[in-house]
Amino acid sequence: MAGEPLVLVVEDEPAQREVLSYNIKAEGYSVMTAETGDEALIMVKETTPDLIVLDWMLPHVSGIEVCRQLKSNAETNKIPVIMLSARSEETDKVRGLETGADDYVVKPYSVAELLARVRTQLRRSRPASVGERLEYGTIVLDLAEHRIFRDDVQLSLGPTEFRLLTAFMERPGRVWSREQLLDRVWGRDIYVDSRTVDVHVGRLRKALRSTGQDDPIRTVRGAGYALG
Ligand code: CA
Repeated sequence: MAGEPLVLVVEDEPAQREVLSYNIKAEGYSVMTAETGDEALIMVKETTPDLIVLDWMLPHVSGIEVCRQLKSNAETNKIPVIMLSARSEETDKVRGLETGADDYVVKPYSVAELLARVRTQLRRSRPASVGERLEYGTIVLDLAEHRIFRDDVQLSLGPTEFRLLTAFMERPGRVWSREQLLDRVWGRDIYVDSRTVDVHVGRLRKALRSTGQDDPIRTVRGAGYALG
């Protein structure tokens, strides 16, 4: 299940990193931190965060470059990025947003303002966590009742397929790698072969087609699966 949103904080200055993660945790989010751009890119590959707070000024790979790489990759381009910058010139702001950053905050900023922006981005990208129902086309997933309907017909799904579909429906269009699905649906500590993912996705597809409708799940060659 969804759990609290995971925020990745990328900041090379220890004091700033500390303040950011302390305050974001205090909001009830999970936090992971990276000190460099390279580290951030590796972490995102392993565990997809729900949001990234990214400092512009980083050694080696700059925040701008990290953002550009994330936004040009189909697996990561839906993760909202809030860029932090000491630069306040309008051209820099434009440049930051041009690389695909979803928001841009100028240092020094108030923590309250940054947290408000974090909440806004998460609301946009995770509408699911707000309500108790997820809808995609004619598929309706009732999280509270643990029931799923397609064309108003109730489908029977196993608990794993239910969690899989929840992940897919929270982020339609997002490509999930098998490893990311393992993380999300089975949990990080349990060893499950990645072929297990294929088996359960297969079962989910079969259940979704049982009303005679088309298969809404897409196999992305060499990458994984996506809904729609
Ligand atoms: Ca910095």
